[in-house]
Amino acid sequence: MLWAGCPWVVLASLGAAGMDTGCMSWSVHAVPLPDGDRPADLWVDAAGCLVSEPVPAAERLPGRYVVPGLVDAHAHPAVAGGAGGPAALGGAEALGVLAAWAADGVCLVRDAGSPGGLVLQLDLAAGMPRVQAAGRFLAPAGRYYPALLPQEAPEQRLAELALGELARGGRWVKLIADFPAVVDGMPSGPAAPTYRAEAIAAMVTAVHAAGGRVAAHVTTDLLTPLVRAGIDSVEHGTAMDEEALRLMAQAGTAWTPTLCAVLSVPATAPEAARRRAADYRRRLRELLPLAHRLGVPILTGTDTAGSLAREVALLAEHGLGPAAALTAATTTGYRFLGETFGAAGQPATLVTYHDDPRNDPAALSEPAAVIIDGVRVR
Ligand SMILES: [Zn+2]
Repeated sequence: MLWAGCPWVVLASLGAAGMDTGCMSWSVHAVPLPDGDRPADLWVDAAGCLVSEPVPAAERLPGRYVVPGLVDAHAHPAVAGGAGGPAALGGAEALGVLAAWAADGVCLVRDAGSPGGLVLQLDLAAGMPRVQAAGRFLAPAGRYYPALLPQEAPEQRLAELALGELARGGRWVKLIADFPAVVDGMPSGPAAPTYRAEAIAAMVTAVHAAGGRVAAHVTTDLLTPLVRAGIDSVEHGTAMDEEALRLMAQAGTAWTPTLCAVLSVPATAPEAARRRAADYRRRLRELLPLAHRLGVPILTGTDTAGSLAREVALLAEHGLGPAAALTAATTTGYRFLGETFGAAGQPATLVTYHDDPRNDPAALSEPAAVIIDGVRVR
């Protein structure tokens, strides 16, 4: 039976008008990235599945390079960035954001928190990126952006509220582990721990027992105790050092440096802030190659700033090199998030490019074709 290996595409074929939803077949003749060096052939059959045998009358997709999709592992589809501070988006706006990312080749998104857990309620149509959502931000009162924290998470309820987000469909829990005090709606002064270590450790244990994982926003040297407490990924991690990286390598903890966000210090910023950014750039040139050598999973995340093409370029510039940076944005992301990719007989997900993004990551901003779970979106 035609659909036997690929039942999902039966649903996809009923998808939105104007989208190629499974009645076409495609062939790809392209260099498989991040590691390939010569072109290979693959096909997407009429059911939208990736197959290794030629499909008669398949239409050739444009592009000479192919990746199994880009992974944005720290994104906020329900948050708008901005100079005046972040703002919450509604459901329709968040779906529009996700559709735009899909057209840009982003095929897998880890939502790193949404106001009230809005992303858990989105009804994702065929052709949208796969989304692993974290639910609401977990922070106590007055310790996160008010627009993103419609309900705070007091310490005595931290584990209970984390489990509540998993029960709503969350795969991740987003812990704001340190943050400045918020004065007049904006962060003010240095970041400091938001919860006691015992409360965080108990929450992490409870989340793991329920099958979830914990992503922790951390910008101070609280980083090492958090890794010891068992968090699964360090978000930002601007106080990263060699000791933390060695612990993370042992524990399998990932690092999402979110360079688009943390390095975007405007020229008009105070001298001290610009000096800190310059110092961090210097440290990154040692830390990123060390993380790579130790086998720490490095993930690409745009947060509320920049693009994956820019994030890959920044990782490449700061010591990772273009090939390893592209690996971070593709196969490392899929593996760390436990998602399949490139498997024959499964719904096809792939993005093609005319130029090799290992020569210039800017090529990632101009995909030639995008197929997500069997549905061509570009
Ligand atoms: Zn974030």
